[in-house]
Amino acid sequence: MKQIYFFAEGNRDMRALLGGKGANLAEMTGLGLPVPSGFTVTTDACHQYQTNNNNMTSQLEEELKDALQHLEEQTGKLFDNTANPLLVSVRSGAAISMPGMMDTILNLGLNDQTVLGLAKQTNNERFAWDCYRRLLQMFGNVVFGIPEKTFDNEMTKLKQAKHYQSDLELTTADLKQLAQQFKALYTATEHKAFPQNPHEQLQLAVDAVFSSWQNNRAKVYRKLHGIPETLGTAVNVQMMAFGNSGQDSGTGVAFTRNPVTGEAKLFGEFLKNAQGEDVVSGLRTPQPIHELADSDPEIYQQFVDSVQELENHYRDMQDVEFTIEHGKLYFLQTRNGKRTPKAAVQIAVDLVEEGKISEAEALMRVDPEQITQLLHPEFAVDDLKGKAALAKGLPASPGAASGQIYFTAASAKAAHEAGHQVVLVRQDTSPEDIEGMVVSEAIVTSRGGMTSHAAVVARGMGKCGVVGCAAITIESDKSVKIGEQTFHEGDNLSVDGTTGKLYAGILSTTKAAQDPNLQKFLQWAQKNGNVDVFANADTPADFEQALRFGAKGIGLTRTEHMFFKSERLFQMRRLIIARTADDRIDPLNKLREMQQKDFVALYRLAEGKNVTIRLLDPPLHEFLPHDEVELKEVATAMNVSVDKLRNRVAELKEVNPMLGHRGCRLAVTYPDIYEMQVTAIANAALQVRSEGINVKPHIMIPLIGSLVEMRWVKDRLVAKLNEVFATTKQPLHYQIGTMIEMPRACLVADQIAQEADFFSFGTNDLTQLTYGFSRDDSGSFLPDYIEKGLLPADPFKSLDQEGVGALMKMAVNGGRKEKRSLPIGVCGELGGDPESIKFFDAIGIDYVSCSPYRVPVAVLASAQAAI
Ligand code: ADP
Ligand code: MG
Ligand code: MG
Repeated sequence: MKQIYFFAEGNRDMRALLGGKGANLAEMTGLGLPVPSGFTVTTDACHQYQTNNNNMTSQLEEELKDALQHLEEQTGKLFDNTANPLLVSVRSGAAISMPGMMDTILNLGLNDQTVLGLAKQTNNERFAWDCYRRLLQMFGNVVFGIPEKTFDNEMTKLKQAKHYQSDLELTTADLKQLAQQFKALYTATEHKAFPQNPHEQLQLAVDAVFSSWQNNRAKVYRKLHGIPETLGTAVNVQMMAFGNSGQDSGTGVAFTRNPVTGEAKLFGEFLKNAQGEDVVSGLRTPQPIHELADSDPEIYQQFVDSVQELENHYRDMQDVEFTIEHGKLYFLQTRNGKRTPKAAVQIAVDLVEEGKISEAEALMRVDPEQITQLLHPEFAVDDLKGKAALAKGLPASPGAASGQIYFTAASAKAAHEAGHQVVLVRQDTSPEDIEGMVVSEAIVTSRGGMTSHAAVVARGMGKCGVVGCAAITIESDKSVKIGEQTFHEGDNLSVDGTTGKLYAGILSTTKAAQDPNLQKFLQWAQKNGNVDVFANADTPADFEQALRFGAKGIGLTRTEHMFFKSERLFQMRRLIIARTADDRIDPLNKLREMQQKDFVALYRLAEGKNVTIRLLDPPLHEFLPHDEVELKEVATAMNVSVDKLRNRVAELKEVNPMLGHRGCRLAVTYPDIYEMQVTAIANAALQVRSEGINVKPHIMIPLIGSLVEMRWVKDRLVAKLNEVFATTKQPLHYQIGTMIEMPRACLVADQIAQEADFFSFGTNDLTQLTYGFSRDDSGSFLPDYIEKGLLPADPFKSLDQEGVGALMKMAVNGGRKEKRSLPIGVCGELGGDPESIKFFDAIGIDYVSCSPYRVPVAVLASAQAAI
């Protein structure tokens, strides 16, 4: 298989082989856009390189020689030639875009001779030496691993000595001097000379890119984004376009739509007389793209037309890199642009409305997890009142967060590990800072634009970010001046990524308002999904929130949460310490009245939607006090002796409460609790029905493990319900179902289905019991399992499809064997996990139920599973 493709030979479908950058360079070439000529060394060559003990194969060496020769013919320039030197960039590019993770070398091909040739040919000595010093920097860093800082320091020293503000003031003589100093650094630090032979330069560069796949920051990025190690990277070798050849030249980055808001308007930045990373490095502050229209309207129009063509062709927002060399435009990269969740939804909706993509395609364009970020917090209006901002920077990534400030990735990480909320404040960020950024609540930089590394990464991570805040002066690793005020490491700062403002201290946050685009988007999702989405809600407030997010009803109300409020807790405790049936009557009556009110409120809000109420689940000792101080207080309040209360606590104590006296087992011992609850349910339903709202109670029994147990409990509930209906003379339709959360219940699901009107999987208990992982204790060992590769993920966060999933399948089949259209749902954490939802869809689950803020995520995940 050949290991090199020219851009003209490839296309965008060859991503796996050519990497994303290479495939898109090929596609743009095919479209006839101006792309500097070049070729791609394939990811396959990268694999060969790795299996060949990190050495180029002889095949690749041959192909590389031929390709260079061909490139010389195409460009009319010659490698290692003084009269008309060919200079190239060497650019890595994996199949999945990894911004800034891998290394690029520009101006390769220059040496002590060709630099003179380039100067002569372009009649621009300064330009030629600027290219050379850049090559020496990048090559030294990428190939020999000399830290960028080492070069930067030399440059800063020179600039300071000459009192320069910007790199542009460096004279030809300065640049010549820098080139000499840089070469001296090679010998001083690496005991190797800069290779003068361009062929050797190229070989070493390709080598370096291939091995950079294994560098630390690339590994961290891959781990963070779940990118497989085996992918490998391609290498692109491309003729240079010189953005640094004068005021009629420049380089920039643009998005066809606004990547922050999603607004359908070209958004970008460029720098005159600059090369490569100058725009994103934040060293100089770039101009907005539309200013190009003033200085060069023709080029601007060509640019606008071309990027529109690219967007139409890719049918998605594009992120392009371009360079202008003496008034000629070149495209150097295009890719589907990274965007904030808000922009993702806006763009998806707009593209549908512009007739460019279908609703189904739009639904696939947004990552369900991103949706949660749309429900981003904002600072509470009350907290902001009268509060002056310390400073304002660019609003790079929306949201609001507060935390203690740290100035290095390492100190941020350490503070995070010590349990602090961290805000990372830096001059600018680079890929080395990734680990510090991951743990921060917010990221703030003093330099750089909306496309700077800090901005792009913050948006990608969904973290709030403010960049280019010029009022910030970092004074040391420990202190910073923001405006007039000095802050030290550990001081509190609040960051508003939506407005770009910074505030001293901690501000409280509220949830963001609903976005009409999101509503529309979620409606499309609702139409497409097979798995319905209900909410876990115990209070009217939770339920209202869930309904706003599109929940079809309540899939799980945990009634025990209603008993923890003060008056109820008191009655619950009276019930628990009561010794005789008579003593139980009064607290039960009081609880029944309160529960009835709870259920009335939920049924009213439901307006006929299903509300599934689960009967009491936790062991009773959870309601009793445990420490001595509290024991005394409660005993006094209840008018019983401390000893009596203490004894009851001791009686109820269990060695293993999760496997103890809980769920339906409580009903076997104390049937009156469940009887009280169903009476409250029936009365509430009747009351709300009399108000003209249709109610069909769904009653759910937890922890069932056998048919006889189900039957025994259910018989009592039915008898009680009949009693209520007999007195009110108003029968009601109702359903009694069960949680499926015991492995045994899965095994005998066909039997249980004889008595159950519906099933709802409790994935937390089912996972706990199937794996034998105590959910409350697994934190001490699960991270080791994940770290050491013994588990792909925490099975409490994403379903163990192989094990727990097999039991679920068995239960679905068993249940439906007995009752063909038995409704089956899933409640618990996993009901809101996109990966798990895909599986639930596949095994025929009818609905999931999850916490209100997960509802939109689940709705989209369900649609994606169906598309
Ligand atoms: P990254 O993936 O970090 O963006 P790139 O390979 O895209 O790395 O290149 C880094 C910078 O160098 C970009 O600004 C890019 O536009 C610029 N660049 C790469 N190749 C060339 C070239 N042949 N001519 C001019 N600029 C180039
Ligand atoms: Mg790039
Ligand atoms: Mg349970």
